[in-house]
Amino acid sequence: MYDFVITGGGIIGMSTAMQLIELYPDARIALLEKEAGPACHQTGRNSGVIHAGVYYTPGSLKAQFCLAGNRATKAFCDENQIRYDTCGKMLVATSALEMERMQALWDRTAANGIEREWLSAAELREREPNITGLGGIFVPSSGIVSYREVTAAMAKRFQAKGGEVIFNAEVSALKEHASGVVIHTRDGREFEAMTMIACAGLMADRLVNMLGIDPGFIICPFRGEYFRLAPEHNQIVNHLIYPIPDPAMPFLGVHLTRMIDGSVTVGPNAVLAFKREGYRKGDISLTDMLEIIGSSGIRRVLQNNLRSGLSEMKNSLCKSGYLRLVQKYCPSLTVKDLHPWPAGVRAQAVSPDGKLIDDFLFVTTPRTIHTCNAPSPAATSAIPIGAHIVSKVQTLLASQHNPGRTLRAARSVDTLHAACTR
Ligand SMILES: Cc1cc2nc3c(=O)[nH]c(=O)nc-3n(C[C@H](O)[C@H](O)[C@H](O)COP(=O)(O)OP(=O)(O)OC[C@H]3O[C@@H](n4cnc5c(N)ncnc54)[C@H](O)[C@@H]3O)c2cc1C
Repeated sequence: MYDFVITGGGIIGMSTAMQLIELYPDARIALLEKEAGPACHQTGRNSGVIHAGVYYTPGSLKAQFCLAGNRATKAFCDENQIRYDTCGKMLVATSALEMERMQALWDRTAANGIEREWLSAAELREREPNITGLGGIFVPSSGIVSYREVTAAMAKRFQAKGGEVIFNAEVSALKEHASGVVIHTRDGREFEAMTMIACAGLMADRLVNMLGIDPGFIICPFRGEYFRLAPEHNQIVNHLIYPIPDPAMPFLGVHLTRMIDGSVTVGPNAVLAFKREGYRKGDISLTDMLEIIGSSGIRRVLQNNLRSGLSEMKNSLCKSGYLRLVQKYCPSLTVKDLHPWPAGVRAQAVSPDGKLIDDFLFVTTPRTIHTCNAPSPAATSAIPIGAHIVSKVQTLLASQHNPGRTLRAARSVDTLHAACTR
């Protein structure tokens, strides 16, 4: 019998595992991951940006976790000798409407307490000679890192303290009872835990469903397709270059991202994926498709965003359409500069009434905690999110009756959170 089993070896599961074993060093903890290694899905297929917290509603979990996560990620990298670069980010407005939206972002960054600088068109050009715009905002605290490396380091710390990471273990059925949870894997193994924590990303709703509970949301997969610039363009920008996003859309728009390996990527767009873990355009899963068609929430999202959805699909199929998105602010790029680069798929929770759930979302039962919506910037925010989940575990333990088993916390969760977010 395990004290805790965590499902999902992405950055949220691994951060939670690492902090849980720090809090309960005597606990028996296992992390089950269906793939052969960590970070195979969203965590290992993203832009690698350490976000500063520019876009998020002041006071929301997204804003709080991102601000704390920016500092915590850099501190974790320092402690674990992981390369990162605080290269800063430039938000670039290319029309009068975007200038208006940029003003709103400027006000939001003030409310979120983020250091930033307003740039005129001339100042923008001085700092980024290959970028054109009517103006910009420079945010110095944004950075880049490999979240695969961060997750691997978290796994190492978890294992060093006695945690077990079990790969190739796909959770296929769950049975919650009065004193714990029985966890079945697809290959016939059985695990039992007093408490289970699910951090299953693109499969989050399915883990809740396994308990026979209606999760109250469905995961809608949005593929984010990237290109990499030809190596001769590795110096084309000095910072991360982001367009001003449409506030009605949950995604940030195609950006130019300096990667930690020195290359520069363009992307990601946001196209409805016909398979949850479908990284190629042709990937289709009948089960996933039927679920999408059968969900009134997703149907409403598609109806409400028909025009932008079709435009994203068109640009996904037509490289020159995709290129135009980036040429708005980087006019010198041409189609031949865009080279293939692996896509990622975002897990976006959708409510039955057709809302794209914006903030982080958790579902709790007496013996389980499910991370249900952990969209971008969840990689940046993984350390505070893990601390938040651990504090939820502590609350859950206080309400449980576990005869013969008393787990003593090594320190208080507040201290743990503070240590993570210094
Ligand atoms: C294209 C793209 C760009 C992004 N860019 C950024 C960025 O620049 N900065 C940022 O902060 N965030 C970014 N994000 C968001 C960020 O990557 C995710 O929010 C974060 O990685 C979520 O982590 P996770 O652990 O919840 O999910 P995942 O990384 O998807 O991990 C979930 C894990 O659960 C496992 N799993 C699922 N079901 C089961 C099961 N039944 N049994 C066992 N294991 C299971 C999966 O195999 C997977 O490893 C981006 C996301 C995408 C897709």
